[in-house]
Amino acid sequence: MIPGPTYVYACPDCQFRVSKRSIMSGNSFGATRYSDLRIEAPMLPSYPRITKCVRCDCTFWLDETTKVEGAIMPQPVFFYIDVDHIQEVQDEKKNPAFGDQLAIDPALELDLESIKDALFMKVQRNEEDELYLRYQLLWAYHKQLKDGTLTREQLNEDLAHVQNIDALLTLLEEDADGEDGKLFHAELHRFAGRFERSLTMLAPYLNDPLWDPIVQKMRLRCEEGNREVFVLDVP
Ligand SMILES: [Zn+2]
Repeated sequence: MIPGPTYVYACPDCQFRVSKRSIMSGNSFGATRYSDLRIEAPMLPSYPRITKCVRCDCTFWLDETTKVEGAIMPQPVFFYIDVDHIQEVQDEKKNPAFGDQLAIDPALELDLESIKDALFMKVQRNEEDELYLRYQLLWAYHKQLKDGTLTREQLNEDLAHVQNIDALLTLLEEDADGEDGKLFHAELHRFAGRFERSLTMLAPYLNDPLWDPIVQKMRLRCEEGNREVFVLDVP
């Protein structure tokens, strides 16, 4: 992975500054892909597009609208493996963009509740923002299931989870023309516990040589009444 510049962003309410790294180039080597479309790629880390100010609790987008002019440039050393080390090296370089702060910490990802709050407060400016937040919410639920901070019983009773899935289905309606789009719709219905609906959508692909291995896994889980995410074995 080749890191790009680290940029500085200011909270629009209180001017508190945070940093966000960028990537010049990366690859998906060693990536794990999940059936909810989440990808864990060690050589292609993702950085948050939205954060919550730790000083005033304002939620703001980390983009051109909040970027402070003047980037903290990366050291001219390439092919870092240790991602944590890059930040240490970059933090040693002082920059006028720091404002009145002695140090700037990386912007934090929104947690599950903060993503819900952000959607409730309608911080999304367009469909792309909303899609981003709704994917983040879906993945936050699934990550909490995985690390054990949320149980399946709790998630099944969380109405916001199903509402989020339905909002995703609406937002993704236009993508439903392609096969992978249709299969993801089927998967979203399965996450919502609508197994019959999911099976109906899977039926046309059951003997398709290209999709059959994945579709069989989805079908099996529907028949078992299983709502869990699984790892896709995609080369
Ligand atoms: Zn603030």
